[in-house]
Amino acid sequence: MRLADLHLHTLHSDSTRPAREVIDLAREHGLDIVAISDHDNTAAYFEIKPYADDRGVLLVPAIELSCGYEGTDVHLLAYAFDIFDERIDNRLRTFREARFRRGIQIVEKLRGLGCDVSAERVAQLAGGGALGRPHVARALVEAGHATSVSDAFDKFLGTGRPAYVEKARFSIPEAVQLIHESDGILSIAHPTLYRDHERIVPELLDFGIDAVEVFHPDVDEENRERYRNLARFRGKFVTGGSDDHGAAKEVETIGSIKVPESLIGPILERV
Ligand code: AMP
Ligand code: ZN
Ligand code: FE
Ligand code: FE
Repeated sequence: MRLADLHLHTLHSDSTRPAREVIDLAREHGLDIVAISDHDNTAAYFEIKPYADDRGVLLVPAIELSCGYEGTDVHLLAYAFDIFDERIDNRLRTFREARFRRGIQIVEKLRGLGCDVSAERVAQLAGGGALGRPHVARALVEAGHATSVSDAFDKFLGTGRPAYVEKARFSIPEAVQLIHESDGILSIAHPTLYRDHERIVPELLDFGIDAVEVFHPDVDEENRERYRNLARFRGKFVTGGSDDHGAAKEVETIGSIKVPESLIGPILERV
């Protein structure tokens, strides 16, 4: 029985790990199937597909899409779509450009608040990948304005905090249409992280989303049971992944989630 981690980040978004390191660690943890789901970026797939092949790791095309639903930021994981799809590629490029502009706006707000952080340093930390608040948070920690990434979110970057700037997001129907037209699969990421999730998650499934990410470090046993039952009842399936961000988050989670291949048939039959 092969084991999968379908939610991993790299330097192409807001993790501190190079893509190769992710593949090496996955192997060390006994994982056979890996999806690198960077925010708004498929670059890791192209970077390491041959490397993963050589090491016997099945790499599944993936991305994590930021969507808006009733004012809440909902993350959808897209899998096994056509990685060469130009419409997806163009849309992601637009989002990455918007992320870059937003990063500069956040830095301007921070400078207005007296924080000595530079757009250059933030861009350097993002390294040409999808720029996000975790990069700004790291620059704030480096400059001594926060004690940790989560302290930077609490003080400045979290929703409603003084340097918060909205991000461009997909609507749910647009994300569903774009990925399904490319024969891909969508799963609701970390379902318990949304305010009012017990109401929202069932509603999201009505849009045609295919699965729920039941296995995630932030989903406890009770909610795993809740959403496993919901998925079964609604004719959906379940996915799982560690959402590892390397040292960009307080805990490194790679290896903590191992999903048996028998649960993710609809994804595997597409790759
Ligand atoms: P962005 O996509 O730029 O809005 O940044 C969102 C990312 O920031 C999420 O994917 C999380 O990885 C991270 N994040 C959000 N809230 C926090 C928090 N309170 N502490 C640490 N990281 C966070
Ligand atoms: Zn992230
Ligand atoms: Fe997420
Ligand atoms: Fe994630």
